[in-house]
Amino acid sequence: MKRAIYPGSFDPVTFGHLDIIRRAATTFDGLVIGVARNAAKEPLFSLDERLAMLNQCVLDVPTIEVVEIEGLLVDFCRKINCRTIIRGLRAISDFEYEFQMALMNRRLAPDLETVFLTPQEAHTFLSSRLVKEVAHFGGDVSSFVPPHVIDALKKKYRNHR
Ligand code: ADP
Repeated sequence: MKRAIYPGSFDPVTFGHLDIIRRAATTFDGLVIGVARNAAKEPLFSLDERLAMLNQCVLDVPTIEVVEIEGLLVDFCRKINCRTIIRGLRAISDFEYEFQMALMNRRLAPDLETVFLTPQEAHTFLSSRLVKEVAHFGGDVSSFVPPHVIDALKKKYRNHR
């Protein structure tokens, strides 16, 4: 069975992520969505909140599993016996960082392969960071994230104010 892992912060999950998840899930037999704790990025949502929001998105897809990534991604891949890393490429601006990371991971673990998937055009400008900025100022994010994520954003920013 060919499984892939889609790692990220998902702070929070957007329709862009879900587009990549859908493409990966139809390309591979199984998909692991790996959520990084990512203390360096000071996430808005806790790890448990991000896991729960993602889980709610993929409830009806039995071939998808949502887990926390512990430690280095390449070590985690070995631990769960997965050799394909999925990343999303939105625009040229993603390229340099993603390219560096793919090559670093290849240096660390030559047996792993990074596969890049591109979302539909309508999602290419979408990022978790922008969604948070819009939501923070009370803007409408309903075309960027699912309803349960809108609720979570509203709650977060209400408590923050
Ligand atoms: P990270 O902190 O690892 O970059 P993100 O959650 O921001 O985590 O992104 C995870 C992956 O999903 C990255 O490869 C990123 O480029 C990709 N991604 C994020 N938003 C989108 C989008 N709108 N369309 C396609 N890919 C995306």
